[in-house]
Amino acid sequence: MTPSDSSRPVTSENAIELLNLCKTYAPTGKEPGKEALKSVILGIPKGRIFGLLGPNGAGKSTLINILAGLVNKSSGTARIWGYDIESHMRQARLSIGIVPQELNFDPFFTPYDLLEQQAGFFGVPKGERRTDEILQIMGLADKARSHTRSLSGGMKRRLMVGKAMVHNPPILVLDEPTAGVDIELRQQLWSYVRKLNDQGTTIVLTTHYLEEAEELCDDIAIINHGQIIACDSKDALLARIEGKTVTILLQEPLAEIPANLERFSVEQTAADRLVFTTKTNDGQINEILQALQATRLQIADITTEQGDLEDIFLQLTSGAHAA
Ligand code: ADP
Repeated sequence: MTPSDSSRPVTSENAIELLNLCKTYAPTGKEPGKEALKSVILGIPKGRIFGLLGPNGAGKSTLINILAGLVNKSSGTARIWGYDIESHMRQARLSIGIVPQELNFDPFFTPYDLLEQQAGFFGVPKGERRTDEILQIMGLADKARSHTRSLSGGMKRRLMVGKAMVHNPPILVLDEPTAGVDIELRQQLWSYVRKLNDQGTTIVLTTHYLEEAEELCDDIAIINHGQIIACDSKDALLARIEGKTVTILLQEPLAEIPANLERFSVEQTAADRLVFTTKTNDGQINEILQALQATRLQIADITTEQGDLEDIFLQLTSGAHAA
């Protein structure tokens, strides 16, 4: 699979469209220039929860920072809600809210003042501000007038999301929303993100947690070494996985795989161990068991394991070469 045929076509149904987006950071001192994005083509559909998944250094932050206007692209085009980030910079910026990884507010501000200040920054007229509504949605109404330093970790994270929503953007981008966040808080944030999506906001999140992508996202793009190497609905990606593995532990060591098992995808991983890989739910397990019975091998144990996003991620990223 080449990067270009794994990408979605660019259409007007997309909230974000990237066409041949490239970024090479200039060389600094002894560091050579770094090609962080290599001709990325990507369409992020409206109304979905879209995960941009990739290992550290893959180019996720670079991509998000270009959308946020914090990093200049080297070439290619990027459109946010149909607005080109260069020729229609203001409209593009107004169409997106970005939640950075790091907390970035003054601890002596109150949530109310912080949201009001941010709304002012985006030029939202006083009569059109949604400060109280956002505090309500984010579960912060009763903390509206407290110093932000007195908020719990979870409340601070939610305030960051609220801050990105003051101009009512149709797209919300969360950069590694749960990096370093404990499990309970992670669940809580996910439920807020789902709520915002239910209310119509397109959500884009970057993550290197496969579990987060699997739990939350409708669609997933996998980026590695600055290239999109897969982009599909989560279900389609999971369906691609050479599903289940069935591990057979034998009572006796085996010299070689019996001929009647060779029609299956089978590997001998130890003298007494055979690992079969089957497509999920295709009924092949029954056939494998019958074939095993015919070999008269004595079986000590059988274990099965379902493939998950981690398998496809490893499958896709392990073959790629470093830049
Ligand atoms: P990710 O967010 O997926 O971890 P990044 O976009 O931060 O990846 O980085 C992609 C590549 O670009 C990495 O090799 C990184 O070292 C490099 N890079 C990121 N920012 C800069 C910068 N300001 N100057 C030079 N190289 C950078």
